Amino acid sequence: MKTFKNFIAGEWAAPATGEYFDNVNPADTTDIIGRFPLSGREDVERAVASAKRGFERWRKVPAPERGDVLRRVGDLMTQRKEEIADLMTREMGKPLKETRGDVQEGIDTAYYAASEGRRLFGHTVPSEMPNKWAMSFRRPIGVAGIITPFNFPLAIPTWKMFPALLCGNACVFKPAEDVPHTGTVFVEILLAAGLPPEVVQLVHGAGEGVGAPLVEHPEVSVISFTGSTETGRIVGETCGRLHKRVSLEMGGKNAMIVLEDGDIELALEGVLWGAFGTTGQRCTATSRLILHKKIHDRFLGELVDRTRALQLGDGRKKGTDVGPLVNEAALKKVERYIDVGQAEGADLLCGGQPPIGRKYSKGHFFEPTIFARVEAGSRLEQEEIFGPVLSVIRVSSADEAFEVNNDVRYGLSSSLYTRDVNLAFRAFNELDNGITYINAPTIGAEAHLPFGGVKQTGNGHREGGWEVYHFFSETKVGYADFSGRLQRAQIDNYLGTPD
Ligand code: ADP
Repeated sequence: MKTFKNFIAGEWAAPATGEYFDNVNPADTTDIIGRFPLSGREDVERAVASAKRGFERWRKVPAPERGDVLRRVGDLMTQRKEEIADLMTREMGKPLKETRGDVQEGIDTAYYAASEGRRLFGHTVPSEMPNKWAMSFRRPIGVAGIITPFNFPLAIPTWKMFPALLCGNACVFKPAEDVPHTGTVFVEILLAAGLPPEVVQLVHGAGEGVGAPLVEHPEVSVISFTGSTETGRIVGETCGRLHKRVSLEMGGKNAMIVLEDGDIELALEGVLWGAFGTTGQRCTATSRLILHKKIHDRFLGELVDRTRALQLGDGRKKGTDVGPLVNEAALKKVERYIDVGQAEGADLLCGGQPPIGRKYSKGHFFEPTIFARVEAGSRLEQEEIFGPVLSVIRVSSADEAFEVNNDVRYGLSSSLYTRDVNLAFRAFNELDNGITYINAPTIGAEAHLPFGGVKQTGNGHREGGWEVYHFFSETKVGYADFSGRLQRAQIDNYLGTPD
């Protein structure tokens, strides 16, 4: 079995701890991809010291040239798309068409970042004084700590690291324990594209062993985290105490609303994709379906039939619609929520258990599950499950649907199926989410638009698009007075003070 390494101080290095963990295929737990470092605080310290040196070099490289490196990264990812998709499916389970999309999102993000190297705009504004210029521009921050989850093993690291690097920061990257292989290949590509070695560091390991020391390290000035709300809270608290800039992207409990005038066929296709794509393990997954009472029964009947017809299996096999959950803990969590739903009196319409059959015996599979008659305010309706479980809530009006959508602590994405254009635009204003889709499911963010949520989904920052470049850079202001005399702001003025 292959033993993998960290990338620290410009070379592939064994962990100081001497410890390793197995990376396992969730569709077949007898298939072990390799042994990866279970690193510790000492590895993090070496990585940060090296990243500081990398930063001193990289911050001086002109931004367009930094962008050129990222363009080459995009080219290499394009060449290796199929191979990366396959290894990603092998290590985290989602079907190949989805992992291909994951790589494509990385490619799109690379080319966007490459072109941003020729923008990275500041402002030039008039000064209050004659013969004086006033302007703002962007400076890099320093060493960025990048902590990512398993569900988008390539796309999420690219969302964070491409803008961080383009802005001139150095990165210490800690991928999720379930996807170290994709993380390794990503760093190999960055290096092959010409990124100077000390500008990126890769430290594998667990949240407590690597993530926590990275967040706590005084020389890591900025942290970008995507993961669970529980871990995000700890990361946010630590960063607050240490005065660090931090971006948190956490949970969701996203709803699709289908009203009586909605296109039912379109909504059926949308909810199957939104709820069961990535086995429900997306922060934007459609985990609630809010149906108008006039279409409720008809919609559900059809949805249950189509859900039962989804092909569960190994994501690398042709014809698979839904892969396994990522690990045993994820499976156990889903099982606990099945008990919660039943104890709360919701109607289990389909699924609710692991599938039966030999081909499922070695993986973390779970049948796509639908609960109907879910009460607004119940645990099933309020809490993030992160699995293939859809809760259906019946409502009598659009206003009630909007209320149910908003009455959760999360606020990532929402979706509305209607043909009423006025209502559609009202939804943009009224639904408390960072993203609202009209006539499309709650998933499907595009790389060139800001991504993020309100309330307890995030902490106000956005990834993607143009906004993330503000997060990864400091605004600096320059005043140049070429009048040759002392001009006092707020005191002197050009026309003189009227008597
Ligand atoms: P998920 O439920 O999506 O796996 P987690 O929040 O557990 O979400 O993990 C997201 C990332 O955060 C992973 O890379 C994980 O190792 C890391 N992590 C877990 N605990 C901590 C911690 N205390 N400090 C920093 N990072 C952590």
